[in-house]
Amino acid sequence: MMNMRLVRPARLVDINAVPELSGIAARADGGVTIGALTRHTDLVVSPVVHDRAALLATAAAHVGHRAIRNRGTLGGSLAHADPAAELPAALVALDATLVIEGPRGRRRLAIADFFVGLLTTALGADEILVAIDVPGPPHAGWGFAELARRAGDFAIAGVAGIARPDDSGRCRDARLVAFGAADRPVRLRSAEGALIGTTLSDEAITRAGAEAARECDPPDDVHASSEYRRHLVAVLTEDVARAARDRRAAAAGSPCR
Ligand SMILES: Cc1cc2nc3c(=O)[nH]c(=O)nc-3n(C[C@H](O)[C@H](O)[C@H](O)COP(=O)(O)OP(=O)(O)OC[C@H]3O[C@@H](n4cnc5c(N)ncnc54)[C@H](O)[C@@H]3O)c2cc1C
Repeated sequence: MMNMRLVRPARLVDINAVPELSGIAARADGGVTIGALTRHTDLVVSPVVHDRAALLATAAAHVGHRAIRNRGTLGGSLAHADPAAELPAALVALDATLVIEGPRGRRRLAIADFFVGLLTTALGADEILVAIDVPGPPHAGWGFAELARRAGDFAIAGVAGIARPDDSGRCRDARLVAFGAADRPVRLRSAEGALIGTTLSDEAITRAGAEAARECDPPDDVHASSEYRRHLVAVLTEDVARAARDRRAAAAGSPCR
């Protein structure tokens, strides 16, 4: 933001030396709590994140290049709120809760209420993000797909998602989130509706792709037209739903749900 001259702060506070803001801890419910200062690389290599939030680990591996991942933080990515960023979308799909602290104390905020517009969040000017709670149990059925012009670039568009089956194997819950397709990460609720109650058959997945294209309204910019992004969101939604179905089938019998 400073580089683009979008902000010119009078004071800068370096939070790098606050150890309490870093770290990855397993939660009793099968989820994981991640400190806001945790680097993207730590998400990629952490066995706890792999076991309990594999979607997040995969999303982190798609962020920039290694030098960026070694330095960039989960909290920084969320607070910056770039609509094409991978980690915010993954955490919306995982239904994370954010722990926020300021002079009035600590509060918890559902990630659904955190992104309020382009590069804008619900964080107060005097608040910081302390940690991110990803609830358990882990999802076996998840998918992540994006298209970027070159590996390491911000995505032109992408989709992150989970699909959770009921005891009969039908999809009971789906959360599909598009990024690079609006001013913030957006749930594709009609596409989710096309999957819920189905066995994630090829027909249901094709319908979900069509619904995703119908419901999204992506921006037109120098990188891609709105129509092209809409096409991408449809194709990537199908890829994500198929990946979720196939992972779930491969993990049948595991404690993941
Ligand atoms: C060359 C390059 C390529 C990149 N490619 C990608 C990409 O492909 N995908 C992607 O998603 N991102 C990408 N990024 C972004 C990068 O991964 C970081 O997430 C982002 O730059 C934030 O960096 P940071 O964590 O150092 O936060 P900073 O740059 O230090 O901070 C970013 C903003 O968040 C605020 N902030 C930081 N931490 C907190 C906190 N704990 N609480 C409250 N506010 C906070 C700061 O005040 C500032 O406003 C790229 C960045 C660069 C430079």
